[in-house]
Formats: sequence, structure tokens, C-alpha cells
Amino acid sequence: MIDEKSILDTIENGILIVTADLKILSWNRWLVLHTGIDKEEAIDNLLPSLFPDTNFNLLKRKVKIALKLGSSTFTNSSVEKFIIPIKLQKITKSIFKHMRQDVVITPLNSEQASIIIYDASPLLEAKAIINDHLQAMEKQATTDTLTGCYNRKMFNDLLKSESKKAARHNKKFSLVILDIDNFKSVNDTYGHLIGDEVLKEMAAIAKETIRESDIFARWGGEEFSVLLPETDLEGGAILADKMRLNINAHRFDKVGNLTCSFGVAQFKTEEPRDALISNADWALYHAKNHGKNQVAVFDQGEIRTWHKMENA
Ligand code: GH3
Ligand code: MG
Ligand code: MG
Repeated sequence: MIDEKSILDTIENGILIVTADLKILSWNRWLVLHTGIDKEEAIDNLLPSLFPDTNFNLLKRKVKIALKLGSSTFTNSSVEKFIIPIKLQKITKSIFKHMRQDVVITPLNSEQASIIIYDASPLLEAKAIINDHLQAMEKQATTDTLTGCYNRKMFNDLLKSESKKAARHNKKFSLVILDIDNFKSVNDTYGHLIGDEVLKEMAAIAKETIRESDIFARWGGEEFSVLLPETDLEGGAILADKMRLNINAHRFDKVGNLTCSFGVAQFKTEEPRDALISNADWALYHAKNHGKNQVAVFDQGEIRTWHKMENA
């Protein structure tokens, strides 16, 4: 004759039977293995007395409801992390400190209920790992690995949405493109690795100059771009000149002083988005051809150097 109760010991879930005040009547092998508490120690004792640091009020309420209504109740690991504390980290190297548990409470008669504990940790852990990977992939797809700022693709996406917003709400915004002067000679003189360090430092200085709401990206090579929401051409030129002076004042590690040239253009609703980029690019070209270390603006179809006096 098979003892039906012993089947509970073969099941890979925690199963216990309790009364309304959480006195334990049955405690299966899974619980013995996972809690380290023997059957003799558990049975006829109150569950809270075995785990004095754990609050069992919710479980008590749920058991009472199940007994009163004569139907099952549940607790979900995403809301209530666990019912019985089972430490995980040491054994499984889990990301969770305690096993996450989904729990079903079923009345067996008017005074006793079974509590079945399902280990939800592997599924939740897999979800968390996938989530981390997705976040890392998203970061990789939008970020320049060397400088940590946005890459060109992300900048273009943000530029697209900013121009749509600006067109819809008749808002202004400006674009600055900056290019390090004579950067090739930095690489030639100090090597590519030092060149890389300069790019990182340059990005850091530029980021310090702009506002939180401004969007800064590596446009490519030794060129960077800045999108300045709610900013007209003059505001863009003032910001670019401030950035230019900050770069002038900085001593780059091992390399010393460097300069940058800047092109600035303001978004025009009636022009295609590409025109904004080519206008800023033309202005940058002008700055390069008129002595570098300066800001040039694309102003109503004409390009001119932005003089510091205009800034006064
Ligand atoms: P200009 O003042 O006219 O801009 O001259 P330049 O020397 O800065 O410009 P040029 O286009 O002649 O050279 C750009 C250099 O930037 C050449 C290229 O090797 C270097 N470069 C581009 N990307 C990287 C990078 O990721 N790391 C390093 N170290 N160098 C880079
Ligand atoms: Mg360049
Ligand atoms: Mg350059």
C-alpha cells in the first residue's frame, strides 16, 4: 500500500499544510532541503516561529480568505517576492538574495489549507538578464564607443524628431558642427592612442559647456555635432564661441593646446532637414578656410565669421 503523503516528498515544489493560524501540519522534503528545517522541527510548530525575521501577515490573511471562501488564493513573485525566506546566492550565484516564489493557497477543508511554492527565480532571472542585454544592445546601437556620447545614427534620429517638433510647433533650434583643427598632426606626432585620448577629452569639455537639454554627438572622426533646442542662430554662435574658448583654455594631456573650428546654422521650417546639416557644414568649411579656431554662421544664405565683438 502506497502512503499517498509520501508522494508530496517526490514533488519539486515546496508543499506545506497549515491551519488558519499557520500551524504546520505537513512539510515536504523539498522544504527540508531548501530551508534546512527537518520535518520533526517543522510539524506542529507555527510557521512564523521558524522564521522570526519574516513577516507572515499577508500569508495569514490569504490563508484565512482561502478557508473562508473555500477557493484558492495566490501570491505573485513580482508583487510579493517570497513567502518563505530561502537564501539563494551562495549556492546558485543567483542575482537574487532570496528565492522568488509564486504561491498557491488551496483550502483542503474548513480548517486546513495547502500552500504550494513554485520557484520563480530562474524565469525572473532570465528575464532580468535579457533585459540587461537589451539595454546594453540599445546603448551600443546609440553610443559612440570611444567617447561615450551619442553616435551619428542616434544624432540623426534625434535631429529628425526635433525638426518635426519644431515644424509642428513653430519652434526654433540650431545645429553646431565642430571639427578639431590639425588633428592629423596630433596622430602623426603622438600616435593614434593619444589621439583617441584627445577625442575623449574634447567630448568631455564640449559636454561641460552645453546644457542638459542640448544633444551632443560624435559626428564622425574628429567632428562633433550639437543640437540646441529652442536656440536661434545667435544663441548657437554664442554657445559655439564659448565652447571654442573653453577648448582654447584647456591643456590636453601630453599634447598641450588645441583649437577647433565651428559651423552654425538655424533650422528653417521651409527647408529640408538635410539643408540644416549642409548649411552648418558650409559654415564649418568657411571657418576652416579663414584661419580655423573660429565660429562661422550660415545666415540667410550667406556665410560669415562670427566675431567675438558680436558677442559683446
Ligand atoms: P583640419 O584642421 O582641416 O580639420 O585638419 P585635420 O588634420 O584635423 O583633418 P584631416 O581630415 O586631415 O584629418 C583628420 C584626422 O582624424 C585623420 C584621422 O586619422 C583622424 N581620426 C579620425 N578618427 C579618429 C579616431 O577615432 N582616433 C584617432 N586617433 N584619430 C582619428
Ligand atoms: Mg574633419
Ligand atoms: Mg580636423
